[in-house]
Amino acid sequence: MKEQMKMLVELQKLDAEIFDRKKILEEVPVRIKELENGLEAKSTHLKSLEEDLKKLKVSQKQREMDLETKEQGIKKHQGQLHQIKTNKEYAALEKEIASLKADNSLLEEEIINLLDQSDEMQKAVSGEKKVLEDENKKSVEEKKKIEAEKNKSEAELNNLNAKRLEFAKNIDQGILPKYERILHNKAGHAVVSIAGNACGGCNMSLPPQVINEVKLRASLIFCENCARILHAE
Ligand SMILES: [Zn+2]
Repeated sequence: MKEQMKMLVELQKLDAEIFDRKKILEEVPVRIKELENGLEAKSTHLKSLEEDLKKLKVSQKQREMDLETKEQGIKKHQGQLHQIKTNKEYAALEKEIASLKADNSLLEEEIINLLDQSDEMQKAVSGEKKVLEDENKKSVEEKKKIEAEKNKSEAELNNLNAKRLEFAKNIDQGILPKYERILHNKAGHAVVSIAGNACGGCNMSLPPQVINEVKLRASLIFCENCARILHAE
């Protein structure tokens, strides 16, 4: 059993490494998706800013046209003033002209305001474009890095799997399935050391009798709490 325990500890080392590589590989699509989501969010933000800028420009254009129409109205009315016969009509027309002029001065103010807002929005759009460009570049680099890590982990995993296949032949066929079941249930860690007086897997403190049994190495001793195989360094 002492020999078997030593082998199990060695097998566990291999399995822990295999588990690590598998985890890295599982995370590859998640990391890529995260990168893509980040870019998509930035791109959506940029589009919404551009949409806002467009609306401001349309609004500005409408007011400019309105202003132009009213300017023509004022000129027309000013021309009509000479042909007016009565004071009453004259006063009414002058009132009309004054009202159009008041409208126009309001429109001019609004146009200036919209121009300022467009300038600000244009700056925000340019800034966001630059951010997106940088993020795109970073993302290409990051994807290359992830791809390289993936290739490395795949190669290592193949190596480790081959080693593991060979090494597992040393383990008693009565023990191996138990070990593998725990390995599967406990995220790649079936054999754990005793740390202080506690289980290295779940940190539950172990009775002295259990610790003694582990040290004797006469049989497989399991943690009562997490069911992992206990091992004393
Ligand atoms: Zn435990």
